[in-house]
Amino acid sequence: MNMHTRTASIIPAEKSAAETFLDELFDAGLLIDTGVDGLYGRSGAFEDVINAFNGLVAKYGAADKATAIHFPPGIARRLFEKSGYMKSFPQLAGTVHSFMGGEADHCSLLADLEAGQDWTEQQQATDVVLTPAACYPLYPTVAKRGPLPEQGRLYDLQSYCFRHEPSKDPARMQMFRMREFVRIGSPDQVCAFRESWLDRGQKMMASLLLPLTVDLANDPFFGRAGKMLANNQRDTGLKFELLIPVTSEEKPTACLSFNYHQDHFGSLWNIRSADGEQAHTACVGFGMERVALALFKHHGPDVEGWPTEVRKLLWG
Ligand code: ATP
Ligand code: ZN
Repeated sequence: MNMHTRTASIIPAEKSAAETFLDELFDAGLLIDTGVDGLYGRSGAFEDVINAFNGLVAKYGAADKATAIHFPPGIARRLFEKSGYMKSFPQLAGTVHSFMGGEADHCSLLADLEAGQDWTEQQQATDVVLTPAACYPLYPTVAKRGPLPEQGRLYDLQSYCFRHEPSKDPARMQMFRMREFVRIGSPDQVCAFRESWLDRGQKMMASLLLPLTVDLANDPFFGRAGKMLANNQRDTGLKFELLIPVTSEEKPTACLSFNYHQDHFGSLWNIRSADGEQAHTACVGFGMERVALALFKHHGPDVEGWPTEVRKLLWG
């Protein structure tokens, strides 16, 4: 044994700031450990904050009269396959598998379980894939309705989402909620929508006394070809994020994102504008848990102690 390994075995590895914050959240009972990184229970107090923030978002968006839809946290596999998600983000996807065998298969499944062996091979893919982003089930739904009206369409979505990105950073969960406003229409309509939310989003988060910046961003496209897609997304200003320091000052957390997809989804799903052109789309996404975590980080674990101004905005 050389000096290095001996030292390592005596001194426990230092915890990252993210991990320390996660421990604080567990200790305060705000998040509940399940034994899997990124999969947590939420306390009543945590959910109260999410509900109150949802109310604030509703106020800021009320004048737009968006059509609300709540999809379940699963999307039809057939639609998921067509969405192109596996081309761009295969590393994040989660599929639902179930046992579909007979009695003999069941016996061997139980034997595998008993022996601590992999029993999941006895399962097969179902027609359901876990939703990776709230807006994915929307586009085929809108396409089915035929050409858009003159003024386009606007939706207000909420869904639990799954992304396989296990992490000790409490702001990077595997199952989390996304609220999204999705605008579908002409390039002018969707760009005006994104601009107005870039403005509204900053005002709304600043009113909660949270320190924030807005910056260009890119999605985590997979592989070498993905690097090019990510660079292109940045260069053309298609994605902005509203960042708040939650677990690190140097790497603040994306709490809101503002995406312009151009005609990507419009072409893929053949959504037509009133004039027959391919529709353009844009969305503003709110990471509900990330916003709650930002509030707990900056105002403390006990909501009773939060600034009066913030409490008033959230709970009236
Ligand atoms: P990041 O760059 O941090 O991975 P993202 O760019 O992948 O985030 P989007 O795809 O734009 O995020 O998702 C919309 C919103 O959902 C984000 O602004 C963020 O607030 C939230 N979000 C994304 N991934 C997670 C996660 N793993 N845990 C919690 N919230 C998340
Ligand atoms: Zn989206």
